Amino acid sequence: MPFNSRKITVVPGDGIGPEVVSAALKVVEATGVGIEAEVHEAGAEAFARGIESGVPPETIASIERTKVLLKGPLETPIGYGNKSANVTLRTLFETFGNLRPVRELPGVTTPFTGRHLDIVIVRENVEDLYTGIEYMQTPGVALALKIISRTGCEKIVELAFEFAAATGRRRVHCATKANIMKLTEGMLQHTFEEIAPRYPQIEAKHILIDNCAHQLAMRPEQFDVIVTTNMNGDILSDLTSGLTGGLGFAPSANVGSEVAIFEAVHGSAPDIAGKNVANPTAIILSAAMMLRHIGEGAAADDIEQAVLVTLESGLRSGDMAGTGKPASTTDFADAIISNLGLDSRTAASRDFRAVNIPEASREVESVTVRARRVTGVDVYIESRMQPEELADSLIAACGDTTFTLHVITNRGNTVYPAGDRTVTLVDHYRCRFMSKSRQADVWDAEILRLLTRIGEVHIWMHVEKLQHFDGEDAFSRTQK
Ligand code: NAP
Repeated sequence: MPFNSRKITVVPGDGIGPEVVSAALKVVEATGVGIEAEVHEAGAEAFARGIESGVPPETIASIERTKVLLKGPLETPIGYGNKSANVTLRTLFETFGNLRPVRELPGVTTPFTGRHLDIVIVRENVEDLYTGIEYMQTPGVALALKIISRTGCEKIVELAFEFAAATGRRRVHCATKANIMKLTEGMLQHTFEEIAPRYPQIEAKHILIDNCAHQLAMRPEQFDVIVTTNMNGDILSDLTSGLTGGLGFAPSANVGSEVAIFEAVHGSAPDIAGKNVANPTAIILSAAMMLRHIGEGAAADDIEQAVLVTLESGLRSGDMAGTGKPASTTDFADAIISNLGLDSRTAASRDFRAVNIPEASREVESVTVRARRVTGVDVYIESRMQPEELADSLIAACGDTTFTLHVITNRGNTVYPAGDRTVTLVDHYRCRFMSKSRQADVWDAEILRLLTRIGEVHIWMHVEKLQHFDGEDAFSRTQK
């Protein structure tokens, strides 16, 4: 162990993980930076040992000590069973920002070669649909919660601008679906518009996420930094990886105010696992990001330059187009090691300042409003009745309560008062009740009385208060 070595936690991961992580550690070691790796498990092996989160306590304890994790991909069973160990790690250590840079690489030919792409996706990493809160509300209807907080938006937007400022980038786009999800995605847009003027040297633009995907396919060179919500960022960053040569070249950093996790964007690629053919570049570039994070910027530059020199030499990994036998994982890493200390012909090292990462607060974060009141409730009801029949029974249930039935929707479509459209009905109705006195603040006891009366004739499974904050509706309007 070198004198004064810096401890890091390493999780080799699943599938191709152990092969590419060991290649990355060899490259890091060859830079001469003193690293002591505490190797721990997470993912498939942990699930097999019955650890429900996929992350054993000894792995968590090591990350708490070292504050830095270099990890291989972790498998997540799709559609059933276990949680994602990746999501567990990101949320456990509140690594709220996911930086995913891609750039045109020499020798990696794509339809965009020559357009000098150099794009960073800044993905919110702990909120949104990734909170994984889902319910079967009826046996045939599922619901997922998309949770977006003001503090989460502030932190990710500040990170995007701080990252842009520290790395000399000139433009930040904020990509949202604020036209449809005005309160959740809209919160990111509004926060972005409020924070952007603090960075007058950086051009700030909002773009709808669907147009962003279109523009990335048509004219990707217009983008520099793109900040976006978790799900959007997950999809967009695979897209930007594809623009510049594929997942084998896409590194990432998950940053929080205390812990940072460095990993390739790609997954465990089980189809090529154990064959020594995976491209180790993504995780090697992630390791370079890690070195920069721990203050070893010169070693990080060295690795990035050596990767470029290796690609300039014409060596190709299995996922690159071309003829002739591709280099194995180990040969590719060895070539990078032999090129350490050489300068690339195509790109100089970038100037980096340390990025100011927004601080985590130990306080409960909240937004203060001057006035708030509840004027109604949405009650979600499971029923096989037609809307008119359901409405009659709910009007009867309102009886002498303070509520009147206002509207009923089915999968977001208004079905009462009846429209003239034909919609496919499912047994999942949202029934909106408003206070007879629109200005009154409805008390919980009145809501409970309404629910009791509805519960005598229907199955209800969820209730949501209709609130007003400072006179503004704090809920979405119903679709006409
Ligand atoms: P994937 O593992 O990224 O693989 C998709 C395809 O990309 C592979 O089949 C392979 O394509 C190619 N590829 C990926 N990395 C490569 C590399 N380093 N070198 C060469 N080719 C590479 O995505 P997936 O198949 O959707 O997911 C597999 C598992 O990984 C799932 O359990 C998923 O949950 C997990 N996953 C984990 C993470 C993470 O830990 N952060 C991220 C994503 C997915 P070819 O067919 O061309 O060989």
